[in-house]
Amino acid sequence: MSNLLITLLILITLSLAGQTPKSVMNKNNNTVKTEEQWKQELTAEQYNVLRNCGTEPPFTGKYYKHDEQGIYYCAACGARLFSSDSKYNSGSGWPSFYEAMDKKAVTEVVDNSFGMKRIEIKCASCNSHLGHVFPDGPQPTGLRFCVNSTSLDFKKSSESKKD
Ligand SMILES: [Zn+2]
Repeated sequence: MSNLLITLLILITLSLAGQTPKSVMNKNNNTVKTEEQWKQELTAEQYNVLRNCGTEPPFTGKYYKHDEQGIYYCAACGARLFSSDSKYNSGSGWPSFYEAMDKKAVTEVVDNSFGMKRIEIKCASCNSHLGHVFPDGPQPTGLRFCVNSTSLDFKKSSESKKD
């Protein structure tokens, strides 16, 4: 009887030991980093906006008046977010776009902070804060993606020709 118990215990121990934890893989190929890693890789200003949902003061960012042809990428992970084709001057003091390049590139989250109900926008690849989206934009979408310059990294389009 006790032999049977010991055998059972050994079998249970062996089967538990066999369950080695599988390596954590993100099947969507997203950028997953610890906050410590982000802190090391980003500037203090970028960390505050991208990871702490901060907001840069209006009319201070490097892209609110920027009108070159090209692509705006996520400053944290490099994902393609917005095209200069959808950028317009909203007068808000932040870079404004009427649409994202790819709807799947931007995640929308309800944000109830500061006693307001707003829709926060985040980079779908790395979950970094970009800004907010408001329903007062121009056609064809009627949306205003209000984005912090700090969250963006602009690259001129290679085929842009200026006379
Ligand atoms: Zn990102």
